[in-house]
Amino acid sequence: MPSPTTPGWASVPGARHIAPEEAQSLPKIPALPLSWRDAKPLLENMTGPEVPKNWQGALPIKYRLTGAVTAHVKVDMDTSMQPYTVVEARIRGSELPDEWVLFGNHRDAWVFGGVDPSSGTASMMELTRALGELKERGIRPRRTLVACSWDGEEYALTGSTEWGEEFADDLKKKLVAYLNVDESVAGAATTAGAEGLSFSPSAVASLAPMLVEASKDVRAPSGKSLYEAWRATSKRDAKARAVPLDSTLVETRIGSGSDHTVFLNHLGRPVMNLGFTGDYGVYHSMYDDHYWMEHIGDPTFEYHVALTRIWGLVGLRLANADILPFDFGFNASKLDKFLAELEQKNKIDARELKLKKLHQRIAEFQKAGNDLREATVRSLTSASASREKIECLNQQLLQVESNWLEPAGIPGRPWFQHLLYAARYTYAHLEFPGLTEAVEKRDWKLASQQAELIDRALEKNIKLLHAAQNSWENNK
Ligand SMILES: [Zn+2]
Repeated sequence: MPSPTTPGWASVPGARHIAPEEAQSLPKIPALPLSWRDAKPLLENMTGPEVPKNWQGALPIKYRLTGAVTAHVKVDMDTSMQPYTVVEARIRGSELPDEWVLFGNHRDAWVFGGVDPSSGTASMMELTRALGELKERGIRPRRTLVACSWDGEEYALTGSTEWGEEFADDLKKKLVAYLNVDESVAGAATTAGAEGLSFSPSAVASLAPMLVEASKDVRAPSGKSLYEAWRATSKRDAKARAVPLDSTLVETRIGSGSDHTVFLNHLGRPVMNLGFTGDYGVYHSMYDDHYWMEHIGDPTFEYHVALTRIWGLVGLRLANADILPFDFGFNASKLDKFLAELEQKNKIDARELKLKKLHQRIAEFQKAGNDLREATVRSLTSASASREKIECLNQQLLQVESNWLEPAGIPGRPWFQHLLYAARYTYAHLEFPGLTEAVEKRDWKLASQQAELIDRALEKNIKLLHAAQNSWENNK
């Protein structure tokens, strides 16, 4: 979400600001959390009907919906402009300096932030130290690595959003992927049981298979590979009898609520979020501090280490890969699932909205993705391709995610331009956002327009993958 008075452009010194009255994202009603001590006299003097059972809170009074309580509220707000500082570090790529892999983590916290964000920040400090050491030894990645420490995440993702808006043109052209870690350990390892904390990453579906692959080469705190530990906790968390399939390990639904938002939803670049989770309970409170982490969260700090390793490994594989490891066949299989779920959940009648064509188009995209993948694997094992040829292919692969962008944005939210991913107003994930919201309103005309936009983007990507395969097979 962009800063309220610079919607769509960077809030840097000297930037134009619109008047606060014109800012659509500024709330009109002041809101502030109250302590229970201050809330109690207000709540206990209400006289209206009792609340539904599950709305009753923990104070020793009957909670009520309405009732005349008059309070004098003095609003005293500081609306001055204050600076945020984004810290940036770079290692220039040795061969492809204009392709970037971006690591990011926020630095601001609501209170002490032992978990959120300092667990992630500890991993980031360690990761950048290790990358710096590689550089000292003369080992440079082929592509450029950028690491950003964001400010102002808790206030509407401001630091990353303004940075993304400022460098939008570069990022759209150069960003291979954004790898976000907000909290590296958001759970209590001391009470997590034998299997330990859950590795619970999310990623755009095209990058999910490479993440699973990378997890096989990282050690989890249990001593098993991260892949084995991940399978075990997934089975436990799903209360499943069998170990889940690899294809279901990565969450490919991506909501908002962290710094990946601008890169995916506004700039159309692939993203990943990495972290361990478990029972936690101190989120955003004054108890989320270093004491909690040292005694309850991760006393041996081994989860922090494991997270740093997978983060760095994924980043380095992306930075050093000959052919970028995007899997669009897998991507398509997830899209088909999203669409089928949308139909089932909303009981869509084919007389109101026809989605058969969209399923067919997704199947074509799947075939094009799988065919290209097989073609590249085939010739990579049989002969060596020239550097120019590989680079041409990589540029085509990078274009796919950009083609999901619709410049007009989704209805009512022009800043959110990705046709496959957005978030609900709660931050919850939302797939095919324009289509889904139209279906939920039973606005069939708008829904079919939105389906048409997705269809066109799919068509563009199918053509792109065909062209990529064609030039791969016919050029030296
Ligand atoms: Zn956070």
